[in-house]
Order: sequence, then C-alpha cells, then structure tokens
Amino acid sequence: MVDSKKATSRFDWRVGAALLALHVGALLALLPMFFAPSSVIVMFVLLYLTSGVGISLGFHRLLTHRSLRLAKPLEYAVALLGTLALQGGPISWVGTHRVHHAHSDQEGDPHNANLGFFWSHFEWLLYSKAHCQEHGDEYRRAVTDLTADPYYVFLEHNQLQLQAALALILFALGGWSWIIWGIFVRSVVVYHVTWLINSASHTTGYRTYRTTDRSTNCWWLAILGWGEGWHNNHHAFPFSARHGLRWYEFDLTWITIKFLAFVRLASDIKVPTPEMRHRLRLPVSS
Ligand SMILES: [Zn+2]
Ligand SMILES: [Zn+2]
Repeated sequence: MVDSKKATSRFDWRVGAALLALHVGALLALLPMFFAPSSVIVMFVLLYLTSGVGISLGFHRLLTHRSLRLAKPLEYAVALLGTLALQGGPISWVGTHRVHHAHSDQEGDPHNANLGFFWSHFEWLLYSKAHCQEHGDEYRRAVTDLTADPYYVFLEHNQLQLQAALALILFALGGWSWIIWGIFVRSVVVYHVTWLINSASHTTGYRTYRTTDRSTNCWWLAILGWGEGWHNNHHAFPFSARHGLRWYEFDLTWITIKFLAFVRLASDIKVPTPEMRHRLRLPVSS
C-alpha cells in the first residue's frame, strides 16, 4: 500500500528542494552580516502569529476540529496567518490532519508513527502528494466545508504569492536580515516544532487517556508548540479547544482562546465534560 511503504510512492522533488532551500537559507542567519536584534524580535513575533495563532488556533483547533467559533473576519485573518506558516494552504492542511485523525497510526494515516520517527517527523511530506492522490476521494470529502468557501480556495492557491508579499514588506522595513530571520529561520523553527507533534507526540511522554493510537502528552513540546504537545489529550477529545486538560498542563493556545472569549471574539468553545474524561481515563498514566 502506498501509505505504508514509501518505496512504492513517488518522491516529491519539489517539496524536497523547497525544504532544503529553506534550511540552507536559515543557515545564513549564522553570518554576522544578517544579524540584527530587531530581526530576532521579528522572528519571534512572526513565530507566534503564524504558528501559535495561525496553525495551532487557526488551522488546527478552529478549522480542522471546529472546537470554537470566531467572527468571520477574525476567522479569515487567523487563516491568513496559518497560510503564512508555509505548511500548505488551509484546505490541504486541514484535509491531511482530518485524514490523520480518521486513521491515526494505522493504514491510511499520512504520517503513521508506526513507520518510524523520521517518517512521521518529515519524510512523509516527501511522499504526501502521492498519498493524497491515492486517497483523493477521502481527502476531497474531508474538506467540503472549506472548498465551498472561495476565500479558502484563494488562500490555497496563493500561498507563495502571499509569502512573497510578506517578504517584500519585511525587506522594505528591515532589509535582508528581516527576510533571513522572519522567513527562513522562522519557517524552519515552525516546521520542526509542528513535525515533532507528529513524531515525538506519537512516541514519547505519558498517556492519560485510552485511544486507539500511540499519541502521548509531551510537556516540553507543549511549551514549544503552544499547547499542541498534549497530544494524547487531543486524540482522546479532538473536539476540545483545550488541549492541556490538567491544571499544570500549560497550553498557550487555550490561554489565547480564553482571552478571545473574554473580549467576546470567540464563542461556542467546546471542552470535554468530567464524565467524558472519566470514561476514557487510563487506570495509571503510562
Ligand atoms: Zn496525532
Ligand atoms: Zn487534531
């Protein structure tokens, strides 16, 4: 089967070349000529906006799982930030993630963790186009809510143009150092943190809830990944806007959602009931 053996899939050279180019570009940050304190600040601001707000809150909790509702203009702004994370458009990102949940760590999962750490970390990306084509009907059915909205179709088809527009703004404001740190370094950091959710959070950490996959709660990844590291909690309750369910499970995206609710910009926020949590709780966290 194409999803279980990469040898039978088609290697996507365009994805490989793009990932290599971004990593090489990020290495330029080591050169003093491309360093300025402001460029590091820009990197962290864009890191939070594109990854914390765009991917974690936007693509994941809002668009994939519909675990909260935002006013449409805010939803669209958040989706734009997610698109600027350079992880694919909203339709392909949400489709891939919904298929992951439908087949977690089984045949059909695009980044099945049983096929190895590095497969689920990034190798799967090099074959994801083939996986998508093989399972075209399932992917298409998974995203009909998004493909019905012309705005999401626009974002899907204009990812590079939007990134180029951001690059132009960064260049105009801060020159090459802002491009190197704001585009290349930021993208590579976001990539590896997101990829670790698929690899480390299906490998290391503790399990609080019974699920049919290998998902784990990984504290250091929850800190790096805006709360996404509480991945066993998430697989147990995919509809939940809150991933860090215990008081000490720090979840910055949940704090952001609580803030948005406080200022009345977020509503219809879903969390599991105590009964739901009790029903799935493992006797002893492992
Ligand atoms: Zn997962
Ligand atoms: Zn999910």
